[in-house]
Amino acid sequence: MDKNIIEKYNVAGPRYTSYPTVPFWRNDQLNENEWLKTIQKNYSFFKSSDISVYIHLPYCESLCTFCGCHKRITKNHSVEKPYIDALIKEWKLYIDNLPFSPIIREMHFGGGTPTFFKADELIRLVSTIFNANQINSDFVELSFEAHPNNTTNDHLTKLFHFGFRRLSLGIQDYSPVVQKAIHRIQSFEQVKKVHESAKKIGYKSISHDLVFGLPKQTLNDIIDTVTKTIELKPDRISLYSYAHVPWIKGTGQRGYDESDLPKSEEKRALYETAKTMLESSGYMEIGMDHFALAHDDLAIAFNAKNLHRNFMGYTTQKTDLMIGLGMSSISDSWFGFAQNEKTVEAYINQIEKGIIPIFRGHILSDLDVEIRAYILDLMCHFKMTFDQNSKFKEVHERIKNQLQEMVDDGLVTIENNTVSVTSIGIPFVRNCCMIFDQDLEPNQKLERMFSQTI
Ligand code: SF4
Repeated sequence: MDKNIIEKYNVAGPRYTSYPTVPFWRNDQLNENEWLKTIQKNYSFFKSSDISVYIHLPYCESLCTFCGCHKRITKNHSVEKPYIDALIKEWKLYIDNLPFSPIIREMHFGGGTPTFFKADELIRLVSTIFNANQINSDFVELSFEAHPNNTTNDHLTKLFHFGFRRLSLGIQDYSPVVQKAIHRIQSFEQVKKVHESAKKIGYKSISHDLVFGLPKQTLNDIIDTVTKTIELKPDRISLYSYAHVPWIKGTGQRGYDESDLPKSEEKRALYETAKTMLESSGYMEIGMDHFALAHDDLAIAFNAKNLHRNFMGYTTQKTDLMIGLGMSSISDSWFGFAQNEKTVEAYINQIEKGIIPIFRGHILSDLDVEIRAYILDLMCHFKMTFDQNSKFKEVHERIKNQLQEMVDDGLVTIENNTVSVTSIGIPFVRNCCMIFDQDLEPNQKLERMFSQTI
């Protein structure tokens, strides 16, 4: 890849798991009623009762210093019960207020560390939400994030019995030097043990989450990590770019500094090397930072152009409403976003008062909704077509003009009303989306707001 192009486009920018992106949300004081109105609008527009549910389980026993998630570090497991109780109460608040009876099509446990919680507590949560002891896994997709160091056979068997068929194992990198720098020590043998137990039990899709661009990570480290990953043949692999955002409160990104991080060209080489290795082992690149074997639902959805992206990343299950439960979770009604309180105490406090614990959000304008659909198409299919019936034609023209530089650099093409990202432009798809983003000024500096695009 051309070094000059990498330098030119390696700027700070959003990852577009939402549009508008969180720093540009305009409703700091969004209340429960305003949020529920956007759900009503969703239901009137889409006429569907299908929903996705994301559940945030924030506790971790030890701090990984590369982590940008909302988490709470503790070894005290007495926190499990009151937190699960609060999640159940929050779900009941939704059931009492939704304008329809929801049909859950997808549920994901994220964190934090979902496997911090005992299997029985997790089962208590899902059996209350589904009002059942097990569910039909052909109809609803259930998945969880598993930490290789504390995922037990009890977790794997009980969750499988309930209906979970997909799990993702947080790997990051196998190098002892990198693991020490990020304070996350876990051996290949431990990962292999959990992976093989899950396979034996019958999990249909196992994902390994790797990260490139970590402190002290070298080309040899990524080669070794990908070689070991291929040995276990997970169905999916996420290869996330390390987001260096130490200025964001609570990330805990410390113990190393910028001089320990691979620089833009070096960092890109880590991704490209991993990609070449994965593709020659039968994996297909999906969207921006995912790979899957041909039989996996993610590859099937990508080929069928059914891929979707939300706060959980790329998904196969497109529902028009996602409810986020738990501290810091984000809900999405297509016409609005709402984020829950960001500390456990504030979250539980609001739940105890019988209030959906929203702390901020955003109601989308008509232009927001249109741009959002374009950005989603670019992120999922690397292609979008301007709506000919839109009332925002002058915005389309402005975007086309601003895209010209990327066209000249061979990263995108524009034919009539369709913008396509070229194969060499794929690593720069975030830069392309930034031109569509109406909250950004051309060439606006976004350092200390977002991570680098490359
Ligand atoms: S990476 Fe996962 S386990 Fe580590 S601190 Fe972050 S959320 Fe917790």
